[in-house]
Amino acid sequence: MNAGQEPISPPYELPSRPRSVVVVGAGPSGLAVARELERAGHRVTVLEERDTVAGKCRSVDIDGLGYDLGGHICTSRYERTARLVTELGLKTERTSRYRVLDVEAGTASRQPMAFLRDEAFGRYRALRGREFPRIAEPGLAHSARALAAPVCEWIAEHGLESMAESFGTGYTAAGYGYLDDDVPALYFVKYAEMTGLLSPRPELLGHAGAFTVVGGFGGLWQRVAEELKDVRCGVRVRSVVRGPDGVRVRTDSGGVDADDLVLAVPVDRILPVLDASDDERDLAGRVRTHAYHTTVATAPGLPEDAFYFLNGHTASRSATGHCVSYHHRYPGSEVRTFYSYGRPGDVAAQLKDDVERLGGRLAGVHGRHEWAFMPHFGSADLADGALDRLDALQGRDRTYHVGGLPAFELIECTVAHAQDLARRHFPPVDGTLIPQ
Ligand SMILES: Cc1cc2nc3c(=O)[nH]c(=O)nc-3n(C[C@H](O)[C@H](O)[C@H](O)COP(=O)(O)OP(=O)(O)OC[C@H]3O[C@@H](n4cnc5c(N)ncnc54)[C@H](O)[C@@H]3O)c2cc1C
Repeated sequence: MNAGQEPISPPYELPSRPRSVVVVGAGPSGLAVARELERAGHRVTVLEERDTVAGKCRSVDIDGLGYDLGGHICTSRYERTARLVTELGLKTERTSRYRVLDVEAGTASRQPMAFLRDEAFGRYRALRGREFPRIAEPGLAHSARALAAPVCEWIAEHGLESMAESFGTGYTAAGYGYLDDDVPALYFVKYAEMTGLLSPRPELLGHAGAFTVVGGFGGLWQRVAEELKDVRCGVRVRSVVRGPDGVRVRTDSGGVDADDLVLAVPVDRILPVLDASDDERDLAGRVRTHAYHTTVATAPGLPEDAFYFLNGHTASRSATGHCVSYHHRYPGSEVRTFYSYGRPGDVAAQLKDDVERLGGRLAGVHGRHEWAFMPHFGSADLADGALDRLDALQGRDRTYHVGGLPAFELIECTVAHAQDLARRHFPPVDGTLIPQ
């Protein structure tokens, strides 16, 4: 036995035979599930439609510096991600500080965190213990019905206005929606919990606060993919047919047969090529997303050295199209990543104005990226058990679902949920040694 390895012991029902699994999607959830399955002795093929892995955690290189287009900020709650980073030997660093930028006055200040000192915090904790005690666990279904109400109604009902003030700006700036739209409270509460500020934890990887991967978060997922045996990028899935004997996936570069299928993309994204059941079709029709954009641009003249939340643009959905936040990461570079909601044309036009109003100049755009961000269900669907129904689909027709829809649109949430799903449904093959 190699040092640091131990035989797997029950709770699993042994013996278990190797299974072949096809995973669709090579973002964090697809790669995390594939890694877990391979380590348990199963055979995995990952199919990714883009030319690169990492999904919404992709990075780009500009003048030798790595810029994250999407997910990269990890908090003290990111234990699974930290473990992955450690196993792969990647270097981490503190993330930039946060600042709230008043777009009218042009002044920057610290994020107000009055909620944590307010009596409302005690009421929140009591409510949490009573109504959604499992909110910090992987997955969302366990808390969905208790938090199905639209976030603005839920805040008013429980007198949690100070929670909205402390977390709303960051929530909106990060793509989850405006507090005056009808997104269910579930997603706001999960976001607030995952900041790590509601229940402070010890340092992770030597960082007291948020951290990220040096050189870009995409590097983590490239490393995960490099260790897997069969990751195919640039592959278009043409059809998925599931039967009693297995799964057949037809692609533009040949077929893949497997025992099981893991969909690491929201079910609505794969529906056109899936031999979908009525349940799958119905749930897919209920999935909503936000059109959220990252623009990487050279823009001198703006405040530097922080992640700025533009509070004049985060207060209400009537500001849709305006830039809600930007990140200046590297001293000496004028490149910034800007984030906005809305239609692509509006976003492009507004960004130039927004930058100029803040005293800067949009000197050149390196790239724009539109994301179908935060797959989620609406309030009525959550109250009606949409997430329970998605959970009930796990394993039916040899198919499993991971990713932001069942887990929430954050790296740690998708990784933890995907790992747990693999452990629950795919016991290690007899004799397989999983590194501890
Ligand atoms: C701008 C932005 C900022 C973010 N910031 C943070 C952050 O700071 N911290 C954090 O924790 N999270 C952050 N996130 C969220 C985080 O990136 C996501 O939660 C995470 O990437 C979700 O992983 P996933 O694998 O479920 O989905 P994705 O990352 O979306 O990956 C899905 C993959 O499936 C592929 N795919 C889709 N359809 C098909 C198909 N039909 N066939 C084959 N392949 C397909 C896609 O190309 C993609 O590679 C951010 C996201 C964005 C967009």
